[in-house]
Amino acid sequence: MDFQAVVDQVHQEVTPHIGEGKVADYIPELATVDPKQFGFAVATVDGTVHSAGDVRTPFAIESISKVFALALVLGKKDSGIWDRVHREPSGTPFNSLIQLELEQGIPRNPYINPGAIVVTDQLLTDSGDALAAMRALLRAETGDAELDVDSVTAASEARTGDRNRALAYLMASFGNMRNRVDDSLDHYFRQCSLAITCEQLAKAGLLVARHGVRADGGQLMEREDARHIIALMTTCGTYDAAGEFAYRIGLPCKSGVGGGILAVMPDQCAIAAWGPGLDVHGNSVTGAMALESFVRATGDTVF
Ligand code: GLU
Repeated sequence: MDFQAVVDQVHQEVTPHIGEGKVADYIPELATVDPKQFGFAVATVDGTVHSAGDVRTPFAIESISKVFALALVLGKKDSGIWDRVHREPSGTPFNSLIQLELEQGIPRNPYINPGAIVVTDQLLTDSGDALAAMRALLRAETGDAELDVDSVTAASEARTGDRNRALAYLMASFGNMRNRVDDSLDHYFRQCSLAITCEQLAKAGLLVARHGVRADGGQLMEREDARHIIALMTTCGTYDAAGEFAYRIGLPCKSGVGGGILAVMPDQCAIAAWGPGLDVHGNSVTGAMALESFVRATGDTVF
């Protein structure tokens, strides 16, 4: 398949829509991002990257980091993480408190905020420094030793993170936090603020598309763990629109409020789309459009 031709076609189809959607503003720093940007990149399992648009502009990884944090936790055998977080779609917003209380402090899945905070808390226990572990993984997978946290975004997240604090303290009240709540949150806020480009996200996504095989050929996690990560991307990866994404796009995806979406076609490629304007569910408008156009062009879906 001529992936570069497909990528160029996707870029051309999406171009009239660049700027659509609304940038996230509940984290003030995200509201300062120019919505008129769009990038699309496909990395095939041999490591080749095809891209078009604003693919070298860093943006906040936000919730897409949840995939990599989970990969690191699953990479350590017997972490016990599945005793601390369920694997069902939530049907409620990613930062909702209601279900968490009803379900005794066990979050519905690792891709909503409370689930991700538990995963980061576990990674902090396992590694001693969750952020350093995440950053080292992304640096290794992208080949960019400079990849780092955007400290202005991180400060903005921390300043306005009361909802995440409420979630974490509620879980602590049920005995589902292992570290000091503020320590785990600090790692979580900074993990969400890692700045990554579209090309880098596609490269890093190969870790999942290759079922745990790293850029250097090592195996981060069991093949089966990667399959679980991919399954959860399909059922829980795109907020309250996971059903719609499965229907429209048919690829496992994880989105973030920075406007990025990572999709994988297992054993073939990882796809990254970025457009800062979001829809009402918090998914990138142009990112979703691009993935739809990609699937139309390639016929590649997991269904
Ligand atoms: N840092 C964001 C938050 O905790 C991540 C949300 C997201 O991308 O879904 O609210």
